Amino acid sequence: MSTPKITGKSILFSAPSGAGKTTIVRYLLERFPNLVFSISACSRDPRPGEVDGNDYHFLGVEGFKQKIEADAFLEWEEVYANNYYGTLHEVVEKLWSEGKVVVFDVDVLGGINIKSKLGDQALSIFVQAPSIGELERRLRARSTETEEKIQMRMARAEEELALAYKFDVILENDNLENACTKAETIVTNFLNR
Ligand code: ADP
Ligand code: 5GP
Repeated sequence: MSTPKITGKSILFSAPSGAGKTTIVRYLLERFPNLVFSISACSRDPRPGEVDGNDYHFLGVEGFKQKIEADAFLEWEEVYANNYYGTLHEVVEKLWSEGKVVVFDVDVLGGINIKSKLGDQALSIFVQAPSIGELERRLRARSTETEEKIQMRMARAEEELALAYKFDVILENDNLENACTKAETIVTNFLNR
């Protein structure tokens, strides 16, 4: 994976699946017009309602592997067995060239990896649910995953929680409203620095 030309700021959100990062990111995108979501590529199929090029660039496993071969990724991970996710250089560089602040929603290893490449130009935020039990409850309440996928995601959660200390900020998401307000302050400070 090659190093990008860093010409703009970025905010990285990572968390075990179900912690609430997508919800918090959506809230921030509505409040800060300069923030734009980095649409990742992935190898899985779209869920009902997901649109190619809007939620993800859905490449399929073969298409994803071709992009790896072409060195097209700033970062990619096999987040779950045979499920690849990654950020294409061209997506991020285009947004920076438009003067946008790029917001990433990536898995925990991806967040650490991208932060190490982007340095001070990036703020890395770890979203933390109050407990593993609550994480599982939220994941089930979201009703988007099969039982197998829930088990896969929970199995990973503990390892991911142990890496929270590597992030610039740990954002507790117990009460959603409080978490969103805190996120707004953190982002404002980062944009003004
Ligand atoms: P992630 O993107 O980290 O996987 P989501 O943002 O999809 O997580 O949140 C998982 C589920 O939990 C969603 O159904 C969301 O509405 C819900 N949720 C998010 N934050 C909270 C919270 N503070 N309290 C209760 N439920 C929450
Ligand atoms: P989902 O299938 O629920 O949309 O996403 C599964 C996981 O993949 C989430 O933890 C999400 O943060 C992560 N993810 C999405 N895009 C990327 C990416 O570009 N890189 C990495 N490393 N993880 C990603």
